[in-house]
Amino acid sequence: MQHCTNCGAPRDAGANFCGNCGHRFADEPAPEPAATATTAASADDTPYGGEMTVAAVLLSLFMPLIALIVALVMRAGELRPSRRGFLKSWAIASGAWLCTGWIVALLIFSSVASGAGGSVREQHGEAERECAAAGADRHAADRLGRRLTSA
Ligand SMILES: [Zn+2]
Repeated sequence: MQHCTNCGAPRDAGANFCGNCGHRFADEPAPEPAATATTAASADDTPYGGEMTVAAVLLSLFMPLIALIVALVMRAGELRPSRRGFLKSWAIASGAWLCTGWIVALLIFSSVASGAGGSVREQHGEAERECAAAGADRHAADRLGRRLTSA
């Protein structure tokens, strides 16, 4: 709480004159708000990170198809292919690739999700710093306006 330098009465924030003795406050330096806002340079995001992730996921999902082709090629080399054996080997290969692909996809998605969360938090902090800077500017403009109108 500020006090009148003339009579010592409590001074209202934003008041130009003392309510007790009529002393003018406009010529006195108003309390400065802490303007410690810094404009932090945001880290550059990798521009092709998302596309690489999509490509990796698609590759993982197509792994069972690749396994099927490989199984077909392997079975084609045999003179008397057993249909049961062919289906069994295809199921094993396809299932193994499908599991591997989904594990890889889950790992990629989890890493992307955590990275996006950090980026959002960073942007939130940046926005808060900008708001603080704008508030400090607004206070300075208000003080300047009061000085001009009371001068
Ligand atoms: Zn006073």
